[in-house]
Amino acid sequence: THFGYKTIDKDEKVSMVAGVFHSVAKQYDVMNDLMSFGIHRLWKRFTIDASGVRPGNKVLDLAGGTGDLTAKFSQLVGKDGKVILADINSSMLNVGRDKLRDRGLVQNIEYVQANAEYLPFEENTFDIVTIAFGLRNVTDKDKALRSIYSVLKPGGRLLVLEFSKPEHEILNKAYDFYSFNILPKMGELVAKDGDSYQYLAESIRMHPDQDTLEEMMKNAGFEQTSYKNLTGGIVALHKGYKF
Ligand code: SAM
Repeated sequence: THFGYKTIDKDEKVSMVAGVFHSVAKQYDVMNDLMSFGIHRLWKRFTIDASGVRPGNKVLDLAGGTGDLTAKFSQLVGKDGKVILADINSSMLNVGRDKLRDRGLVQNIEYVQANAEYLPFEENTFDIVTIAFGLRNVTDKDKALRSIYSVLKPGGRLLVLEFSKPEHEILNKAYDFYSFNILPKMGELVAKDGDSYQYLAESIRMHPDQDTLEEMMKNAGFEQTSYKNLTGGIVALHKGYKF
């Protein structure tokens, strides 16, 4: 296959992921709606509700891309709070910044280009860190989880929204067919970029399942970890605390 099933080293993965997101940035929002039939909006709404965000909170939307979560958090933390949209990719960050500014969301948002593995923030800074559909693209996920743990305040929590393993075999098969046959074709047709969408499908298949990811969070130091399957486990929302 194109990217996923041959062995690639770390540098190759980093530049490949960079290439994919430079390539899809402009079409990213349209494709998201199309490919998930708009359901990603519900998954994100669920994440916000589960975060327990309050006015005045400091939130890091990591791998925040075009800023859907940032936009919602910005309204909820209010003028005394702060949201940092961090992403490794300048194209995604630019599309996100333009979109949020066009919507008039300016007062409490900052943009930072950063790698999740090496977060450029002080320890104990954030009440909430979210990473939505981002962790699977990170090369060293354990390192990223430790880095996130460090920048959370005691009492702070991490929410990981990510594709996961469907609970039932039939859904799993249907979803596989959709991901590998339909999704890259849609990518080719609409975004003229079948390869990138092939990579995205493969990265979803290779991502750790629900229990494995929960274990990884525990290993990074998170406590009271839990997860909730959404849409039959196509997506899962993991949560963990730092105490
Ligand atoms: N969170 C947004 C959303 O849910 O719509 C964007 C998700 S997009 C599928 C994945 C994002 O992860 C991309 O913007 C990509 O640049 C970013 N990313 C990939 N590797 C990263 C890393 N190591 N550190 C930070 N961001 C990363």
